[in-house]
Amino acid sequence: KQRDPNQPEFHQAVEEVVRSLWPFLQSEPRYLKAAILERMVEPERAILFRVPWVDDQGVVRVNRGYRVQMSSAIGPYKGGLRFHPSVNLGVLKFLAFEQVFKNSLTSLPMGGGKGGSDFDPKGKSDNEVMRFCQSFMTELYRHVGANLDVPAGDIGVGGREIGFLFGQYKRLANEFTSVLTGKGMSYGGSLIRPEATGYGCVYFAQEMLKTRHEGFDGKRVAISGSGNVAQYAAQKVMELGGKVISLSDSGGTVLIEAGLNKEQFDYLMDLKNVRRGRIEEMAAHFGLQYLEGQRPWNLVCDIALPCATQNELDADDARTLLKNGCFCVAEGANMPSTLEAVDLFVEAGILYAPGKASNAGGVAVSGLEMSQNSMRLLWTDGEVDAKLHSIMQNIHHACVSYGEENGRINYVKGANIAGFVKVADAMLAQGVV
Ligand code: NDP
Repeated sequence: KQRDPNQPEFHQAVEEVVRSLWPFLQSEPRYLKAAILERMVEPERAILFRVPWVDDQGVVRVNRGYRVQMSSAIGPYKGGLRFHPSVNLGVLKFLAFEQVFKNSLTSLPMGGGKGGSDFDPKGKSDNEVMRFCQSFMTELYRHVGANLDVPAGDIGVGGREIGFLFGQYKRLANEFTSVLTGKGMSYGGSLIRPEATGYGCVYFAQEMLKTRHEGFDGKRVAISGSGNVAQYAAQKVMELGGKVISLSDSGGTVLIEAGLNKEQFDYLMDLKNVRRGRIEEMAAHFGLQYLEGQRPWNLVCDIALPCATQNELDADDARTLLKNGCFCVAEGANMPSTLEAVDLFVEAGILYAPGKASNAGGVAVSGLEMSQNSMRLLWTDGEVDAKLHSIMQNIHHACVSYGEENGRINYVKGANIAGFVKVADAMLAQGVV
């Protein structure tokens, strides 16, 4: 905290890990002796750069670009790019740190990284977004590569942005390689990549529910966010017979008392991915209740899937959810629950999965996209979905193996220890580097 005083999100992510890891570390002195944890909290490399671009009025704009290369112990750096005004070094360090554990949990050979910019794609024209992406990649390209660092999307970086970034990389590097994942299907993408994080989150929740002989059928499911993760989480919940009662964006929440239906889902996909509109418009279009400026956590639900952003669910929200009978929380977003909220969920003994376990499906399928690119092959959607499903089941199994506590499963502890062990063993084997 003294070394990086202005990085509260990073401190929060590290604290969450250290709290559950510390008793384990004390029983494993070889990790302590080799200062594994001290090394893991320090990025191997962090790059910060200027991103100048020209807007549609001919005005020169300047943003800040970053890439945090946290750990390459078990594979090339891997993790998304976020374009959002709230992006700074501390936020990206928290995301990169989480990514190291998450990637390890997938069992695929991927290290951890994260990057992005304080650029806000909202309200920008396609041409402005393209010029920004080209400028961003003009610096980033020398730091990434198919065997070095493979970025993907995150908040504000979807298919459109990945396309522009990939085009500029190819032009500069003069090579067609798997330097980004989340690519379009016509140039090296994988089927099921757009769906992967949302589907994976629901698959993970399904495994948790099974431990209590429960399922999604007939359950009221509150979802926050309405972007990539929220959209496909909602679709999978509907498929499994659950009732999606909410979606949200930074403006507010739409309440769907009867449960999201197919027509509303199709409208949402067009609204958010094509027209880039606000969730308020969906409420108006279907005559649904719109809760301006509110998050969905005071709605009565059985299951909550926070799929928007960090710290979107605090202690008061957690108390309300518990009071209203919510018994399962699976995080689609990264660190959406504050430390206090996590403590309340764990103390209450409900099924609670931290994002590093339950949202690992996205990066897992990114790993599968890299494999397909290396082999010059394309797997069918059924093949990729089956692999995703089995990876999520394996992550659940790993959490159960390491997270058993007084007859219950502490998924925070399980995910942190299982994710840590693989990286730590690789670091021990590779010496002090
Ligand atoms: P998108 O940009 O597609 O959607 C983000 C959604 O969250 C939007 O509805 C957005 O609303 C809302 N949101 C973002 N910031 C805020 C904020 N400060 N306050 C309230 N609402 C906010 O991003 P993704 O769906 O890809 O990502 C969502 C979360 O999932 C992030 O935490 C991300 O790190 C995580 N994640 C994503 C993966 C992926 O494969 N995409 C993989 C693993 C984790 P608005 O449009 O109004 O800003």
